[in-house]
Amino acid sequence: MNALPATAVARASDCDVLVIGGGPAGSTAAALLAERGYRVTLLEKTHHPRFHIGESLLPANLPLLDKLGVADAVKAIGMEKWGAEFVSPWHGHKQSFEFAEAMDKSMPMAYQVRRSEFDEILIRNAGRKNARVVEGCQVQDVSFLPGNTGATVKAHHEDGCIETVRARFVMDASGRDTFLANRLKAKHRNPRHNSAAIYAHFSGARRNTGKAAGNISLYWFEHGWFWFIPLADGATSVGVVTWPYYLKTRRHKPLAQFFQETIALCKPLQQRLEHARLASPVEGTANFSYACDRTHGDNYLLLGDAYTFIDPVFSSGVLLAMQSAFAGADAVETCLRNPRQAAAALKQFDSTMRVGPREFSWFIYRVTNPTLRNMFMNPRDYFRVKQALLSVLAGDLYGKTPIRVPLLIFKGFYFAASLLHPGRTLSAWRARRHNIRDVDETGAMVN
Ligand SMILES: Cc1cc2nc3c(=O)[nH]c(=O)nc-3n(C[C@H](O)[C@H](O)[C@H](O)COP(=O)(O)OP(=O)(O)OC[C@H]3O[C@@H](n4cnc5c(N)ncnc54)[C@H](O)[C@@H]3O)c2cc1C
Repeated sequence: MNALPATAVARASDCDVLVIGGGPAGSTAAALLAERGYRVTLLEKTHHPRFHIGESLLPANLPLLDKLGVADAVKAIGMEKWGAEFVSPWHGHKQSFEFAEAMDKSMPMAYQVRRSEFDEILIRNAGRKNARVVEGCQVQDVSFLPGNTGATVKAHHEDGCIETVRARFVMDASGRDTFLANRLKAKHRNPRHNSAAIYAHFSGARRNTGKAAGNISLYWFEHGWFWFIPLADGATSVGVVTWPYYLKTRRHKPLAQFFQETIALCKPLQQRLEHARLASPVEGTANFSYACDRTHGDNYLLLGDAYTFIDPVFSSGVLLAMQSAFAGADAVETCLRNPRQAAAALKQFDSTMRVGPREFSWFIYRVTNPTLRNMFMNPRDYFRVKQALLSVLAGDLYGKTPIRVPLLIFKGFYFAASLLHPGRTLSAWRARRHNIRDVDETGAMVN
């Protein structure tokens, strides 16, 4: 532990579970465990409401929101999202998908949400369930105690006070800050993926009409893809996900100018933004594809982005974060209540944590591949493969929906189509290797 500055006020507390971070993962875990009677302390370094990127939820989020008791609150701030639209410059048409066509017909829609509002609903819910929620308090150090007896966590309040918390269990939900993984040197860059994003909110963007007004649109372009996410208050979140080599072409341009020039490379998106104005600062983030070499250790778990993040293309981040919190709450409860079953509970947690990244990454790594793009733009439902694909897009990975066999068939079609077009396959493989290579992007994301 570091020595305290001479002027700092010290405070001590104890709890059963200390949660680092009040995003979707941390607030969900804190609410669930507090509801079950555990003394939970959640420390969040910022104050809600605060901006966060990642506004598009999946249908599989809705049952989780229901279980947390916040479904109505989210409905009140959400824009209904019934499906997704894909737009490709290499095809003469748009392709729309509706979640209602997935295998499980009971999850036909989701919401687009302003994350400042959504995350605030979740953290206030944790407080209402009797978790001790402290905002403006950054966790700075953790020491695990010998003999599996818990941890001592040191946190810095913004009034200068340093609090030492003794906890039986620590849940790291610090998002892409990856607080624990950094300290444990457990975080690794994803060797199979490498992209960066630039994004902003616009007002006055042209929306689809009727039921499709809230659908997410994805636009492929030469250097990656764009998202277009309509929000309930009239704003639209627009972002580009691109490869490091393209980002490097920005050089010293202001980020906002580079973003507008990039949008201009995608005509159908540019047309929808013809009368739109920027309604937020333009922001960027790079190097966001990583994983940790473990999901847990003695007396700690890693939740949501604190464990892994791959890519935003299928809007899966919030679902995986909340799902990890549900699985994590069960595992922690077993560890605290019945330590003899801890190993089995943690093993179960570990395998749940790997489901989402495994299923989504297969599609993420191939989504800019021409063969997969063709399959998305011309979907066929032989052997229910389209329904299974929609179930994945809905995030329906954790229940009993029988997606396994149709997904295997889908992948079989993909490999067969790749073999039938060896030239295209080889050049796509080469392009991908070129795209994900690391380039020196130092300073590329600085405004
Ligand atoms: C460009 C981009 C677009 C995305 N689009 C989508 C999308 O459309 N849909 C979707 O579902 N997902 C999307 N995501 C992913 C999504 O934003 C994340 O997966 C999700 O927010 C993860 O939730 P979390 O609770 O794990 O982490 P976070 O939401 O990041 O929350 C972590 C919290 O921990 C706090 N914190 C960090 N360190 C400390 C500390 N030391 N002490 C105290 N507090 C701390 C932070 O302030 C933060 O509030 C996107 C991601 C990116 C990069």
